[in-house]
Amino acid sequence: MNTVTEIFGMNVFDDAVMKERLPEETYNQLQRTTRDGRHLDSAVADVVAAAMKDWAIEKGATHYTHWFQPMTGITAEKHDSFIFPAGDGKIIMEFSGKELIRGEPDASSFPNGGIRATFEARGYTAWDPNSFAFIKDNVLCIPTAFCSYTGEALDKKTPLLRSMEAISRQTKRILKLFGTEDTVVRTTVGAEQEYFLIDKEVYDRRKDIIFTGRTLFGAKPPKGQEMDDHYFGAIKPRVKAFMSELDEELWKLGILAKTEHNEAAPAQHELAPVFSTTNIAADHNQLTMELLQKVAKRHGMVCLLHEKPFKGVNGSGKHNNWSLSTDSGINLLNPGETPFENAQFLLFLCAVLKAVDDYQDLLRICVASAGNDHRLGAHEAPPAIVSVYLGDELTDILSAIENDEAYDNKEREIMKVGVHTLPRFPKDTTDRNRTSPFAFTGNKFEFRMLGSSASISDANVVINTTVAEELRQFADYLETSNEDFETSLHNLIKKVISEHKRIIFNGNGYDEAWVREAEKRGLLNLVSTPDCAPCLVDRKNIDLFAKHKVYNETELNSRLEIMLENYCKLINIEALTMVSMVKSEILPAVSKYSHELTIRSLDKRALTKTVNVDYETETAKRICELEGNAYDAVCRLDKALCNSDIADSEKKARFFRDTVFATMEELRGYIDELETVTASEYWPYPTYGDILFSIR
Ligand code: ADP
Ligand code: MG
Repeated sequence: MNTVTEIFGMNVFDDAVMKERLPEETYNQLQRTTRDGRHLDSAVADVVAAAMKDWAIEKGATHYTHWFQPMTGITAEKHDSFIFPAGDGKIIMEFSGKELIRGEPDASSFPNGGIRATFEARGYTAWDPNSFAFIKDNVLCIPTAFCSYTGEALDKKTPLLRSMEAISRQTKRILKLFGTEDTVVRTTVGAEQEYFLIDKEVYDRRKDIIFTGRTLFGAKPPKGQEMDDHYFGAIKPRVKAFMSELDEELWKLGILAKTEHNEAAPAQHELAPVFSTTNIAADHNQLTMELLQKVAKRHGMVCLLHEKPFKGVNGSGKHNNWSLSTDSGINLLNPGETPFENAQFLLFLCAVLKAVDDYQDLLRICVASAGNDHRLGAHEAPPAIVSVYLGDELTDILSAIENDEAYDNKEREIMKVGVHTLPRFPKDTTDRNRTSPFAFTGNKFEFRMLGSSASISDANVVINTTVAEELRQFADYLETSNEDFETSLHNLIKKVISEHKRIIFNGNGYDEAWVREAEKRGLLNLVSTPDCAPCLVDRKNIDLFAKHKVYNETELNSRLEIMLENYCKLINIEALTMVSMVKSEILPAVSKYSHELTIRSLDKRALTKTVNVDYETETAKRICELEGNAYDAVCRLDKALCNSDIADSEKKARFFRDTVFATMEELRGYIDELETVTASEYWPYPTYGDILFSIR
């Protein structure tokens, strides 16, 4: 086998390849374009395209595609071959600069939330030259943004790039005040990905998992995750073989797959890459999700990315580790060595605190989906209440600043920003609170509310834009303040702490008491998607995104529409699947079994009147009762679906939650009990035990 260093990035048209294959002038021009975010000159594009094509063909590629991220949350591609007729029945392989920088997919079937109905029917894709082209399955993939002809974003990448620009713009203003000029600022992200692996054979026998990605029924197995014996446990050989192949595939695409381990639930695992620039991290996470599923199939397994595949066992999330750094690699969330560096760190820290407090609603919205609603609020994932964990030490420091007190009793001096050095707090002590939705972990923030199947773009658009807004306010104040810089800085930090400390919570987020405490503090608790989604278009949020040129009002309205639409569609599919499983398999099976029991009890009684037939009669009676309840519920569910054609999308989403989903939950209760009283040979589906322990 080739060594890791040899295969790493071998299928990526990365910086090293460009340096080697492009004329120096072209290379430099491309560098300048990407650095300044300008349009690519068509002559330069032609040279780059030709080099890309030659490189791709040498690697066996026959096709190219603009690879983009529409609002479905997954990626889209349409393959075109390089062939071009050259006369005499011959062909040549061609790829022009025009084809590289712009594509026009027939995009009318992608979700657009009403944007393109009112404007243009078609959209176009445009190369994001900050993201390298790569080869996947003999196709040269060019990462692109996807917009309407009137310029509205129809994808997840465009707003992400805009938000990165917004935060870069404001961060530079702050850095300038601290004496750092002319630097490029990037946000960085490391996205930890959780997933389940189950055997393909078991999967094939569960229609619910096939159609919806999760189980709609399933009684609690005798063994779940209570023994904590899976977390970080020895990895089974079959899973290990899968992980090795996955690593190799990811490395070939230049994805920095680093850490793999078993997670808390049986059959649950996690993969973490080394962090990178946010748009690259987002592309890479999409590819990772795709490859997880592809490689699992090759090993006779299926990878489940759903947020809650199994009731009663942990769901899967994604941890978005976020920071911002300069192009010389200085992490701005790293506490510094000197008082001045510390002051800068505290200012950025305060910007995040204020952003999370001011925009709790947006942080909740950007992770909202029907799938993730099962996790948030259940006692396992960060709750639906957004708060920040800072750890005791940092919280004490902030409190000392706020109250003009000494932080350290030995020093006995009042904590002064820009004058005092922060004590070194060891990185490890800052992060062992797994229940916090937004935790400071020493030199970055870890946003833990994301669902496992979501694109990380939405969350990062919100973090970037809200922090940009706070930095803008800070810069406005500091640039115009009449006092000296250190005093203004000190006062600003003090003010932010005092006004926003309510968002800091270092305790147990799963505790019931926290819900009451958060309410007292006036924090939001937006439990489900229909609760939070409408806030997306609150005036303050429209203004925020417009000010930083991330979304205009039309785009925001369309995103809200798509979000609610997806929510309803998903629950609709789940409900239809449930109805079909119950009517065509579960009810017939339990009816047959109760009949069998009845016949048996009568037969036994024929033998002698005094024979004990309690098992047969009691079980048959219970089954008949549950069967009746289930039948009644499934009829109501059916009827609810017939009544679900509601024009107002917010009302419709609430109907799906309060009526459709609520009835599904009720129905599930009957079916899960039926499973426990029905002989296994009659039960039509593999049980939780069969599924969760299917990989041996
Ligand atoms: P753990 O959470 O297991 O303690 P780490 O804290 O080292 O592990 O890293 C978790 C994730 O955070 C990794 O994906 C890592 O690359 C990422 N990470 C580390 N530093 C940064 C940073 N400055 N910006 C963004 N992500 C980071
Ligand atoms: Mg972590």
